[in-house]
Amino acid sequence: MRTPHDRPAVEVDGLRQAYGDFEAVRGISFTVRPGELFALLGTNGAGKTTTMDVLEGLRPARQGDVRVLGLDPHRQRRRLRPRVGVMLQEGGFVGDLTVAETVRVWGGLSADVGRPPDGDVLETVGLAGKARTRVRQLSGGQKRRLDLALAVLSRPELLFLDEPTTGMDPEARRDTWDVIKGLRAAGTTVLLTTHYLEEAERLADHLAIMHEGTVHVRGTVDEVVAEAGDRIVFRLPRLPRGGPPSLLDTTAEIARSGDGAAVTYTLTGTSPAGRAHAALRPLLAWADEHRLTLHGLEIRKGTLEDVFLRVVGDAR
Ligand code: ATP
Repeated sequence: MRTPHDRPAVEVDGLRQAYGDFEAVRGISFTVRPGELFALLGTNGAGKTTTMDVLEGLRPARQGDVRVLGLDPHRQRRRLRPRVGVMLQEGGFVGDLTVAETVRVWGGLSADVGRPPDGDVLETVGLAGKARTRVRQLSGGQKRRLDLALAVLSRPELLFLDEPTTGMDPEARRDTWDVIKGLRAAGTTVLLTTHYLEEAERLADHLAIMHEGTVHVRGTVDEVVAEAGDRIVFRLPRLPRGGPPSLLDTTAEIARSGDGAAVTYTLTGTSPAGRAHAALRPLLAWADEHRLTLHGLEIRKGTLEDVFLRVVGDAR
């Protein structure tokens, strides 16, 4: 029997959402387990923010069933508020307040509903040195950190992060990943949206890729990446007549430039170890026969980016 502890933190089953006649979310399903980090990836306009809006209770689900910590996020929003932290894409700050004042005001607002504010929150997000700075003087990336500070101030069980590192430089992004990892290690469940595939690869336990209102791929990072298939890549200074050979169980993609070409073979399906080597033998024989050198020859694993581009390509 299911106990409250193994009940998913977030359950989305057949969610549909529309703006007028336009259906932005077209029947998606996924679950987020307690304590895990789930990343929702997708193209621009895929429906990620619309989905987050429903989960945050900002609008009711038009169709389908949505539960957050076992509750209806729209009808039971007040009960959920103390347990959920939200970092929106655009935080609305008062520019004249300092960073420390903003945290104090926010802490005061949420004191009656949440757990006691975390006094070290500015330290946690790396903004302690900016405590006396006025919010309007913060850079874009620093404002995102302040957004994050406010979202985690009352130590929520569940955290919704909508593009948390947009506008941050690479170092700030890595620091923020460490903050998010720390929160997750402390038991916080996190659902985040991002356009940075590396962010999902580094942080996510499970992920889903959305395109045009539909979830196309779902699984652990390893499961999703395994779907991409291994790659054999190289460049040719000239492309002989007839092109590169067909290799068993692969698809070849050729990008021509001048007389030469960049060639990528993708091993289709999940590839047991050694298959790429087996495919290499006839390729090397072909290169010898045509007296060609395969420049930059490399066998590499598929990446999340490969899967993402395939999803978009297939849909088109
Ligand atoms: P992005 O990655 O670009 O932020 P997203 O995946 O978050 O995109 P949404 O913001 O959920 O996508 O938008 C999904 C679709 O719904 C888009 O086609 C968008 O134009 C449309 N849409 C969003 N908000 C509204 C609205 N208030 N009225 C009408 N259409 C909307």
